[in-house]
Amino acid sequence: MAAYYNNDTMLYLDGAYVKASEAKIDLYSQTMHYGYGVFEGIRAYRTENGETKIFKPVEHYVRLERSARFLNLPYTYTVEELIEATYKVLELNNLQDAYIRPLVYAPANMSFVPNTESHITIQVWAMQPFLGEKLLRVMTSSYQRPNPKGFHIEAKASGHYVNSILASQEAKANGFDEALLNDMDGNIAEGPGANIFYEKFGRLYTPSTGNILPGITRATVFELAAQMGVEVVEKQFTTAELQTADAAFFCGTAAEVIGWESLDNTAFANNWNDSIGKQIQLAYKALVTESSIKETLKELA
Ligand code: PMP
Repeated sequence: MAAYYNNDTMLYLDGAYVKASEAKIDLYSQTMHYGYGVFEGIRAYRTENGETKIFKPVEHYVRLERSARFLNLPYTYTVEELIEATYKVLELNNLQDAYIRPLVYAPANMSFVPNTESHITIQVWAMQPFLGEKLLRVMTSSYQRPNPKGFHIEAKASGHYVNSILASQEAKANGFDEALLNDMDGNIAEGPGANIFYEKFGRLYTPSTGNILPGITRATVFELAAQMGVEVVEKQFTTAELQTADAAFFCGTAAEVIGWESLDNTAFANNWNDSIGKQIQLAYKALVTESSIKETLKELA
């Protein structure tokens, strides 16, 4: 297991900064037993001029609140206080390039009645891109994403990730790097922890919202594509259509932008290095580190 903390690591817990090794949670928590909690995955980067910059912190904390409201979890925190707390935790741990994990969890409650209070923790650790930096061999999962009529699928709820874990473990057990899941109608939805785009004849395509977590990185890809003059089409599509793509990639805060080598052992037509996805990957890196694309290209050369 990765080392998420050591004896010196500090985290944020309900307004205080405490040692990770000494922080306690209630084992009777409803979150622990039922997966009834919400969280975020955020990244901070050391920018080109040496500052620590959290990428899109407002968007992430607004989504955390929306997720909590979807689940009826009491939520009393402001975006400003949580951003301030996050910078403080980064500083206390001497981290600039970091993954940030806020979690809103429930108190002791074995029943299904609503709670009158929630707890919040913010944890930070150094983390390489979640899916690595090599092109991915992706497998169509035998698992579907949760039915949006059974869950608030656009909420980042802890329990939803049982589905993600099953799918990812299945893909790895079969010798692949990651899974790709369909929605309940048999259209492509997303990966266990990332959104998907494919490229065909100079355009990008991505599943419409409704059956996916609408990612903040996905929205950033829309912005970068617009700047490049590349059209992005949101639509429903199947594995058969995806197999005719020129290239494909996953994107997410933890994964960043990562290209695919193949889907179900079928390679894509174009070389990743010549793809729009590769340009988006470079532009994303430049954006989050506030550096110019030229310098990013130099660094990667
Ligand atoms: N889909 C799922 C299921 C995810 O867990 C994530 C990661 N939060 C994403 C998509 C990408 O979202 P974001 O770009 O906001 O990190």
